[in-house]
Amino acid sequence: MRRLVRACYTGASGYSYAKKAGDVAREHGFDRVALLASNENPRPPSPAAIEAATAALRETNRYPDERASALVEALRRYHGDYRFVAGAGMDGVIETVIRTIVEPGETVAASTPTFSFYGIAAAAHGAQVVNVPRRDDFSVDPAAFVEASRGAKLAFLCTPNNPTGNSVPLEDVETILEEMDGLLFLDNAYVDFADIDYRPLMRRYENLVIGRTMSKIFALAGLRVGYAFVPTWLEPFYQRAATPFALNAVSAAAAAGALADTDQVRGTLDHVREWRRRFLEEVPFRVYSSDANFVMIDVEPHTGDEVTERLAAEGVIVRSCTSFPGLGNHYIRVCIGEDWENIRFLEAITKI
Ligand code: PMP
Repeated sequence: MRRLVRACYTGASGYSYAKKAGDVAREHGFDRVALLASNENPRPPSPAAIEAATAALRETNRYPDERASALVEALRRYHGDYRFVAGAGMDGVIETVIRTIVEPGETVAASTPTFSFYGIAAAAHGAQVVNVPRRDDFSVDPAAFVEASRGAKLAFLCTPNNPTGNSVPLEDVETILEEMDGLLFLDNAYVDFADIDYRPLMRRYENLVIGRTMSKIFALAGLRVGYAFVPTWLEPFYQRAATPFALNAVSAAAAAGALADTDQVRGTLDHVREWRRRFLEEVPFRVYSSDANFVMIDVEPHTGDEVTERLAAEGVIVRSCTSFPGLGNHYIRVCIGEDWENIRFLEAITKI
């Protein structure tokens, strides 16, 4: 019956998931394992988020509000007066934007190496995916990006970029917005860890969507909440394309609760900044400077897969970057964990 499955799922490898903590613990004999592969917040969600989610659980006999109006209100209080749409993770928002804009057979562009799901979701929709390589130092050449994405309905640009960690300067994003043909999806999953604010661009450009997530600094990865700043013209069409009730009521309530707890965010940010600096200074390989809650490390002459296996044997799970198209096989990505996790990682990588 395999012949019934679409070629985009039998041919390509799909999304890469991290090793499981339980497997590594069992295989190598650890009580606890450092989880540094998925760019999560190592700390639990804010008590305000847990309280709001618990209250929402009591009303889950009803379908959620399809517009997540309470969350959208909380987003307006947090960010100011913008238009928002919300979904099941930024992944869900990405899929819906593709469905809203792109006909099967049309072109979607992405600046690579980058987050794999743009290409996976676009290909699954039947789109042609054009990968636009970054420069050797992983910066983006705006003119090359505009040129290569000519004719694309939708183009993805991730800043700070996963897995390289660098940001695209505001003026380069503006150049792209001025010149490009289609809609730009600016993925700001990690922008809370950076010193750059792209939101004012929403006031000036009609061809811009900014994607955000509650999975990172807001520590809600397990609840799957993402949202986007959208231009006014797009919102009603996005709502038509969206899977009904995709964002569940518990997750939406938790997200609204978390947005009200800025102390928690500040604590995470200080911790990440301190450890990013230490990783840059103390890791005995080339560490790329990062604006995110992770760093990319060039582990040459080893391969990323080799080093990932050796770190797992030391009780540390990191991400080998071998599966990122357009990147060599000698990089790993390590996110900032709690102190004991980071210390275990530093000790383990120093042995290699
Ligand atoms: N964009 C980037 C760049 C990411 O790294 C991730 C998550 N790893 C996402 C989007 C998806 O975020 P979410 O958890 O909200 O689906």
